[in-house]
Order: sequence, then C-alpha cells, then structure tokens
Amino acid sequence: MSLTEITAKLKSREVSATELADAALSASEAANGALNAFSSFDADKTMAMARASDDRLAKGEGGLIEGAPIAMKDLFAVEGVETAASSNILKGFKPTYESTVSAKLWEAGGVFLGKTSMDEFAMGSSNETSNQGPAVNPWRTGDAKLTPGGSSGGSAAAVAADLCFGATGTDTGGSIRQPAAFTGTVGVKGTYGRCSRWGAVAFASSLDHPGPIAKTVRDAAVLMQAMSGHDPKESTSLPNAVPDFAAAAERAVKGMRIGVPKEYRMDGMPEEIETLWSQGVDMLKDAGCEIVDVSLPHTKYALPTYYIIAPAEASSNLARYDGMRYGNRVEGKDLTDTYEQTRAAGFGKEVQRRILIGTYVLSAGYYDAYYLRALKVRRRILEDFKTAFEQCDALLTPSTPSAAFEIGSRSNDPIAMYLNDIFTVTANIAGIPAMSVPVGLDKDGLPLGLQVITPALDEESMFAVGAALEAQAGFTGKPKKWW
Ligand code: GLN
Repeated sequence: MSLTEITAKLKSREVSATELADAALSASEAANGALNAFSSFDADKTMAMARASDDRLAKGEGGLIEGAPIAMKDLFAVEGVETAASSNILKGFKPTYESTVSAKLWEAGGVFLGKTSMDEFAMGSSNETSNQGPAVNPWRTGDAKLTPGGSSGGSAAAVAADLCFGATGTDTGGSIRQPAAFTGTVGVKGTYGRCSRWGAVAFASSLDHPGPIAKTVRDAAVLMQAMSGHDPKESTSLPNAVPDFAAAAERAVKGMRIGVPKEYRMDGMPEEIETLWSQGVDMLKDAGCEIVDVSLPHTKYALPTYYIIAPAEASSNLARYDGMRYGNRVEGKDLTDTYEQTRAAGFGKEVQRRILIGTYVLSAGYYDAYYLRALKVRRRILEDFKTAFEQCDALLTPSTPSAAFEIGSRSNDPIAMYLNDIFTVTANIAGIPAMSVPVGLDKDGLPLGLQVITPALDEESMFAVGAALEAQAGFTGKPKKWW
C-alpha cells in the first residue's frame, strides 16, 4: 500500500496508527536479519508516537502523513535515539536534539519506525561502508546478494520491501536517486536549501540535500512537502514558501518541453540503459511533451569536480570528530596521539580516503590547482544548466549507468564505485531539483530508473513530469519476498 492509500485508511479509522506501527515494527525486525536495512529501533518511542497519532486521528485532527511509519536515515538526529551515521566514531551517540527534517515529519504526523543503515558518513554507492555491514537489496535474480545502492541504501531497501511508507535520505552526489533506481522506488532531492540540513550529520555542506524515498511519485511529493520549508537555524535554508508538491504531481504535462542532453550518452553505456532512456522519451512524447535536444558541455568534468569538492568539504566537516567533545575516543599518550588514534580507530577506510583527498586538495600547494579550479568548473556546470533550461522545462536522463550490482563486486575499486554517480552528481553541483522514477526492468528482471531534472525552485515541474513518466511506464514491479 502506498503512503497516500494508508493515510486515507488511517483517517477513516479503518486501521489505527498503533496497529500499523506494531505491524511495521514486527515486519521490520523480522526482515532485518536478511536485509540489514535498519541500524536501530526504539519500539517504545514508535509506539508512543503511534498512540499520540491515534489520539489526534480520533479527534479528527492530524497532519499530512498522520499515523504513517517512516524510516529515518541514520544521518538525521532523532532525539534520544542513536545517531551514528553508520560510523564507529559516533557509535552510541544519542543526540539531545531533533533534526529539522525529522521534526517536520513528526509535526506532519509521521511515526518514527527506526534508523536506517547507510554508507559511513554518506560516503559510498553501495551501503557497504556501514559500520553494521551492508544493507541488502530486496530485489535479486538468483542467490547472490545485491546492493540496494548507497548511501541511503537502508532507507531504499526498507521502502522497497514494504517495511515502511516512506523514508528519508540525503543526496550529496546521488545517494537518494541511485538507491531509488536500484530498488524500484522513487527518490527525490529538491533545490539546495529546500530541506534544512540542520541536525543532519554533515558530509559536504554545499552539496548535501535531504529528501524522501517513497513508493510513488505522489507519496514522494507529500513527504517532500512535509520535509521542506524555511529553517531559521540553518543559514542556507531557503526562505521561499513551499508549493503544493502533491498538486503538482497531478498537473498536466502537455506542451512541456523535455530536454535530452547529448552528453549523457556515455561511451560504454549498456544498451539497456540507452533503450530505457529512448522509451522514456517516447512515453513523455505520448503524454504530449515536446522533445528537444540540448547540450550540457561540461558534463564530463562533473565527476572529477565532485570528487574534489565533496572530499574537501568532508575533510573540513569531519575535523570535529576528534574525540574531545562527543563521539568515541581512544586515549593516547598525549593530545596529538589521542587525536590520531581516535580518528584511525573511528573512521573506516573510505572515510579516511576522502579525508586524505580533501586535505590534499585544500593544502597550500594544491589549493589553486585543484579546489579553486573545481569551484570554477562548478560554475560552468551551473551555467550549462541555465542555458539548457532556456530551451526546455525539464531534462530526462538515465539515473544510473547500471542496475543493482552484487555486494562485494566493486568494493575494492573506488573508481568503479565513483562512476555510479555519473548521471546524478551534476544536479548536486548545480543545486537543482532531481528525481529518479522507476520505469522498467533489465534483462535479469532488476529495476531501472530514469532521472528528471528541473531548474532551481521548480520542483513542481519535476513532480509533474515524474508522475507522467510513472503513469506512462505503469511500473508495478515488486521484489519477490525471500527475506
Ligand atoms: N556516491 C557518492 C559518494 O560516495 C554520493 C554519496 C552521497 O550522495 N551522499 O560520495
């Protein structure tokens, strides 16, 4: 059942929030042995929130998603609940405050179901760098375990396995859209600043975008609406009013101009992705859209630019984990030794790699050659989008260069892993809305997604085109239950 369907049933009192929370908790706890999607539960909190929801529903009150169990990526601070960003350095850390995004979801009536596993500090594309081991994709073709993608892999797996009615993610270079594409779910990030980053563990602050993972485009629009809005506690939070995203998902797309960027046709791109993309183009044509060829000439620099800016900001953001103020500490023989041992023990290999790269590109001798140059290219990429959006209202591209891959198959090859983000990082670099919509299955029966990108502040067009694509594709695929 979708979020839209279950909230209607909750409202009509056909089902109570307590029954639902109880069922979602047992299903999630039972599935976790196989899927490892959740990093922690807090049944008392879940049931208390569900009871409060039932009280509101009984009085005919309640918010947009009243009574619906929602899973939270372990990057969002939930008061009193371990928030570790799937890292050993934060293991056991229980924040005394609530992130803005989670607070907004609770205000809208969401019921906290549990924290979901992720790549450590959101660095990765396969959920394999989590301190709790990889989350597993509910989709599979044989016995091999597939990754649900990353870094919001636990959230995507939980939604795809029908354990919750929506989940939060964060997307710095693709971490919502890639897992959504790998699990047949819908993943959205809005304009930079639309969802507050306050209380979300920072990875690369100028690229981090919180957003939802959901079962349908409309569900994603509803969740996005609940999560968005100005936050005086966050300096880059957008002051703009939040439009009615759910209404936008019902808007006609006839006459809209859809841009197809030629630079996204990469060498060595699997035939199936190419085919899916052309099918998507035809679907939107059938829905009355006009198709235009556009060019985003700096696309080839996007991935290298991202892998300079993201590690640079990460190296700075992660300097706070020094074992002094919070998080874990390994006592050394003096202060420097304590820092070193704490960070060596607390951070996994990929996080250490990012800190090293980031520190290098920011160092006095290399700052101009790498970091400053990356910032200049970033501007060019943004200008590419501005020019393209003079000719079209939205762009259609593949979400990922492949379907979900086997766990372990790329874990020793960081470059192969980084290539997952080839179609997604550009929208983070430019800070513009982008979503992945499931459109078809590959030859092995695994889901594939297409990406819709729109200009800054125009999430409404994104939801309209996403919903049109969803309706045309008629994707109803579900993983066969084995967990
Ligand atoms: N896979 C990308 C990375 O490893 C993006 C991660 C993200 O969006 N958080 O940095």
